[in-house]
Amino acid sequence: MNILLLGSGGRESALAWKISQSPVVENLYIAPGNGGTGAYGTNVAISPVDFPAIAAFVKENAVDMIVVGNEDPLVKGIWDYFKDDQSVLVVGPSQAGAALEGSKDFAKAFMMRHSIPTARYRSFTADTLEDGYAFLETLQAPYVLKADGLAAGKGVLIIDNIDEAKASLKEMLGGMFGSSSATVVIEEFLSGIECSVFVLTDGNGGYRVLPVAKDYKRIGEGDTGLNTGGMGAVSPVPFADDEFMRKVTERIIEPTVKGLAEEGIVYRGFIFLGLINVAGEPMVIEYNVRMGDPETEAVMLRVDADLVELMKAAAEGNLGNLELRHDSRTAVTVMMVSGGYPGSYGKGYEITGLDRVTDSIVFHAGTSRDDDGRVLTSGGRVLSVSSYGDSIADALARSYSSIGEIAFDHANFRRDIGRDLMALEK
Ligand code: ATP
Repeated sequence: MNILLLGSGGRESALAWKISQSPVVENLYIAPGNGGTGAYGTNVAISPVDFPAIAAFVKENAVDMIVVGNEDPLVKGIWDYFKDDQSVLVVGPSQAGAALEGSKDFAKAFMMRHSIPTARYRSFTADTLEDGYAFLETLQAPYVLKADGLAAGKGVLIIDNIDEAKASLKEMLGGMFGSSSATVVIEEFLSGIECSVFVLTDGNGGYRVLPVAKDYKRIGEGDTGLNTGGMGAVSPVPFADDEFMRKVTERIIEPTVKGLAEEGIVYRGFIFLGLINVAGEPMVIEYNVRMGDPETEAVMLRVDADLVELMKAAAEGNLGNLELRHDSRTAVTVMMVSGGYPGSYGKGYEITGLDRVTDSIVFHAGTSRDDDGRVLTSGGRVLSVSSYGDSIADALARSYSSIGEIAFDHANFRRDIGRDLMALEK
């Protein structure tokens, strides 16, 4: 089987690593890939949203299945673009399904229709600004304001003061995030600890739950400072025990899968549930329509199954009785980032020591190779250093020791990944 994987981050490196282990794969292509994905397949210089170029490549190279790493191609309708082409499968939702991530207003309304637990909310546009002010008055601080559309992970504001919240609502509706904030969702603030649950569904009622993970979004230790794409992740999550996951399955996963089918929305791919544990009760913070980054760089280590067979069956609409077992070991990933990230940072620094790492799997993210084959930094998040262990502390000790072998100018990483969860480990 020939597979084309779209994307260039650490998530795509981890997917490529897993896909390349499948005995059914003949050729794996990664578009555009990064400085490390060449170890698992062939990088091709095509943009993940250039559908005509992708179609031409698919035809020339007899690609059987397209795996989509990030949300952009899905929200832009890549599934629909290829739906009449019998020779290639796309793992992912139709454009209608991708609206679960592409529109927070749509996602909230979907949850309401299917009684899926989530924060109380209302949506507003410039015409209903005054109603928005009045709704804010009914809520307690802090106030959660969300741009309806995609905003590169920056479209959510959490504000302590009511006057500032009102001012921000006005600014958002006035175009703070362009057309993405023409509609703003205001919701109740939920207090709890978050986790990410990933589900692979075939759109016909069949689904498999992947290992649960927790990610660390802030740049600073102790969850301080600016939000990033993610600084590390841990799987499993001690509080996501059998009882919690039973609630997640009954109250969230099954109504989501059933709701999509009832509404005639084709969805054959990964659903990412951003959950919050509010005193033992799971509630949905957000849906994403693809795997998470950096969670994938921990989760893939724990997928004890042929992911290619599973994705193919899901894309064909029938998971049948294929099993998705979870490796019992703990897996963690720690991101090495460029100094200055998520603000401005330098690029093009040589990365050394990768060949000295023996105890971890290093997934490349923002890296490239020069003509001499040297690996250079090319982005904010540079490397995802993943390890197995008997416990969170054990796995982290391996990742941090591996990081000690790797060097590039101005490298930065968080030293406290997973620390909050260690106390909860049995
Ligand atoms: P991401 O980059 O995670 O995709 P996003 O822009 O799609 O983010 P959300 O995930 O909806 O937005 O919100 C971002 C973060 O804001 C959440 O991970 C969570 O920490 C916080 N948050 C969102 N909604 C709430 C809420 N109702 N109560 C408390 N915190 C919230």
